[in-house]
Amino acid sequence: MKRYSAFAIAREAMRQHMGWEKAWASPEPRPHYDVVIVGAGGHGLATAYYLGRNFGITNVAVLEKGWLGGGNTGRNTTIIRSNYLQDPSAAIYEKARSLYETLSQDLNYNVMFSPRGVMMLAQTHHEVRGYQRTAHANALQGVATEFIGPDRVKELCPIIHIGGPRYPVLGALWQPRGGTARHDAVAWGYARACSAMGMHIIQKCEVTGVRTESGKVTGVTTTRGDIGCGKLGIVVAGHSGVVADMAGFRLPIESVALQALVSEPIKPCMDVVVMANTVHGYMSQSDKGEMVIGGGADGFNNYTQRGSFHHIEETVRALVETFPMISRLKMLRQWGGIVDMTGDRSPILSKTPVEGVFINCGWGTGGFKAIPGSGWGMAELIAKGHSPLTADFGLDRFREGRFVDESVAAGVAH
Ligand SMILES: Cc1cc2nc3c(=O)[nH]c(=O)nc-3n(C[C@H](O)[C@H](O)[C@H](O)COP(=O)(O)OP(=O)(O)OC[C@H]3O[C@@H](n4cnc5c(N)ncnc54)[C@H](O)[C@@H]3O)c2cc1C
Repeated sequence: MKRYSAFAIAREAMRQHMGWEKAWASPEPRPHYDVVIVGAGGHGLATAYYLGRNFGITNVAVLEKGWLGGGNTGRNTTIIRSNYLQDPSAAIYEKARSLYETLSQDLNYNVMFSPRGVMMLAQTHHEVRGYQRTAHANALQGVATEFIGPDRVKELCPIIHIGGPRYPVLGALWQPRGGTARHDAVAWGYARACSAMGMHIIQKCEVTGVRTESGKVTGVTTTRGDIGCGKLGIVVAGHSGVVADMAGFRLPIESVALQALVSEPIKPCMDVVVMANTVHGYMSQSDKGEMVIGGGADGFNNYTQRGSFHHIEETVRALVETFPMISRLKMLRQWGGIVDMTGDRSPILSKTPVEGVFINCGWGTGGFKAIPGSGWGMAELIAKGHSPLTADFGLDRFREGRFVDESVAAGVAH
């Protein structure tokens, strides 16, 4: 595959851009692969990429029922941070964040990683104490964060009104190397790199059954025929319960729709990401100028991927005290994605009761930031049977009561 470079752009400009290759191939499925990954979201594609890059396993297919990146990976608000409370979470999220720093170079694809800084506002005394505690935990974990006062918040984000009547800004947990990336580009970059290694990415191929023999996986049934495999990775986010059911086991997962919206584009007015967890709203400005606003999750389990009016109203009402300027913005569009929630708000990266079947799910409202770290750990788990990054996120923790409780860091945040 030809590398993207400044020279290539100049060359193609001369040829009226007729010489670009397709970023990834669209092959017919083979009858058998060493590893099949179900789900071409960021986590599935990153798993495939690191299987090839770190372990030389390239006889891999990634099967996708829709289009590549069309699940939550292409629907999220792209916040990247690693300021979690528990050590296993800090380890995997910080691994991911650090991989994002050089992901564009590693993939030879511009994922537009923008470490513009993320602040989580403290708007109650309870939150002040909670975030100070997280800042101390992060210092011990080697994650660079600090607790900052309201004046520094105002300096970093002048459009914030810090003296609100209900929820004045009392400070914030600030991670200067947190930020955003272009979500589609992350999926496309991994897909292109996987395809370059000879892996098959097969879109419009829904897995409808999992085939087993004597408790061991032998393949999957799909809308494009049966496909055999030595190992199977299930990486389908909101549909994890459905595919696990095909393999004959249950998951402690609930699927709900989570919503977001963007405003009309405006001139640059905010160059950090702000999360206001007490009122539940968060905002950043996209490169196109739209204000990207994250809303809440539906209060009932469902599989819809659409927005609803009451969420716009709730989210904007919550944010307007802290960001009075949004009262004058027109909203452009809204959407939803199906997120997979666990009880302790931590992911599951695990072997399963079926030999050769591995599962990666439970990232809930905050898995975009984790994509490179999750792929790294999941690939190691599939290739070697264990990984230090995933060791604490096994399915057995729910039976044994070893929760990785991130309900404070991740319960309503992203
Ligand atoms: C509105 C919203 C805002 C968010 N904001 C953030 C944020 O700011 N920061 C952050 O870190 N995270 C955020 N998230 C969460 C994040 O998007 C997800 O955790 C992450 O994208 C999950 O990636 P994935 O690869 O596991 O899943 P997905 O991208 O959903 O990929 C799973 C794929 O599996 C496919 N699939 C399902 N069933 C089958 C089948 N039977 N056969 C074949 N394919 C199948 C689906 O079509 C889908 O493409 C947000 C999510 C939403 C919805």
